[in-house]
Amino acid sequence: MNAQEVRAILHAHGLRPRKGLGQNFLLDRKALARIVRAAQLSPDEIVVEIGPGLGALTEHLVRHAGHVVAVELDERLLTILRARLGHEERLHLVHGDILRVDVPQVIRAHVSPPEPVRYKVVANLPYTITSPAIRHLLESTPPPERLVLLVQREVAERIAATPGDMSLLAVHVQFYGRPRVVAHVPAGAFYPRPKVTSAVLEIVPHSMPPVPAEERALFFRIVEAGFHQRRKQLRNALAASLGLPKAQAEALLLAAGVEPRRRAETLSLQEWARLHAAYRERDKQGRP
Ligand code: SAM
Repeated sequence: MNAQEVRAILHAHGLRPRKGLGQNFLLDRKALARIVRAAQLSPDEIVVEIGPGLGALTEHLVRHAGHVVAVELDERLLTILRARLGHEERLHLVHGDILRVDVPQVIRAHVSPPEPVRYKVVANLPYTITSPAIRHLLESTPPPERLVLLVQREVAERIAATPGDMSLLAVHVQFYGRPRVVAHVPAGAFYPRPKVTSAVLEIVPHSMPPVPAEERALFFRIVEAGFHQRRKQLRNALAASLGLPKAQAEALLLAAGVEPRRRAETLSLQEWARLHAAYRERDKQGRP
């Protein structure tokens, strides 16, 4: 599809792209091929597409995967999709908000897969819901085996950051999986043209989380405390946000092998996990 064809399809249905739903349709063949290649699909696999839009990416996915479950919020686009791709037997079009959908359940409802459900997620994500959508997907049970997402370049780079440039968002995503920026996609690859450059982001979930699931809330409480005043040294940030005397915050950091004057953005996932373990240990010993 080129921009003219997209405009013609929308025009024929009396529609305009909805900014609020992040409707920037992908036109560029190279970018479409790059996304599909990054997904490493095989003919027996299930892929979930978020926001199929007019079906540019969906057409490719149907050719490479066993089943495509495509979840679209805009009912108007589903009408177009049914007309364009309704004949594809292995395409399952679902009306819904991805943030409210239990993805494995939707797959079970349409495909009857063997358990545990195995699937991948591929999407040109509406930029309006990037962070909550990634988090929702990574917290699914079971999570996808691989996510390939087209997102704003700046967000992709923030998510795939390394110690020195870490943010709360990077820790949140890297807690669940290993992110990597696969390719950059220029604004001219879309209709309508967005204001920013995009990037293809791959996330491969870990087989084992860095801390057990039941410890997740405490782990993130500590990370959020560290980032609460991100320009502060960790000993001060943790003391202020966790309500600890400074000496105790320092002792915790030293027990975790983290120099107390470091700042939150310099810590790796392993260091946050060690800090969490040191905090748990302190709790067990009944310290105030
Ligand atoms: N996949 C198409 C493409 O690449 O050309 C369209 C991508 S467009 C960036 C985002 C799509 O997500 C739109 O079709 C939009 O209607 C849909 N969308 C927006 N919010 C959604 C949500 N919460 N759940 C599911 N789909 C959503």
